[in-house]
Amino acid sequence: MRLFLVPVIIMFLQSCSTTSNNHHSSVYCNTCARSSNDGSIHRDITAKKAFMRQTDYPNGRPGYVVDHIIPLYKGGEDTPENMQWLTVGQHKEKHRDL
Ligand SMILES: [Zn+2]
Repeated sequence: MRLFLVPVIIMFLQSCSTTSNNHHSSVYCNTCARSSNDGSIHRDITAKKAFMRQTDYPNGRPGYVVDHIIPLYKGGEDTPENMQWLTVGQHKEKHRDL
């Protein structure tokens, strides 16, 4: 009986890691911002809010994410000038190579 449970546990673990990889549930591009192994964001969101105000979407844009044109981990700046709106699909395409 114990052996029978092993595949179930493996399936459960796989589904967990898939869920936690989905950073696109947020309106903000965490993939661009990731600069260290832990993947956490140590910045304030002032620049993002300024960008959203400037583009007339102060409360976010349904179906879109705020993307860094040059990702922060590639040396891009965390400023409104380096931000753009991408659809969720376009954004997935951009980060597919990661
Ligand atoms: Zn991005």
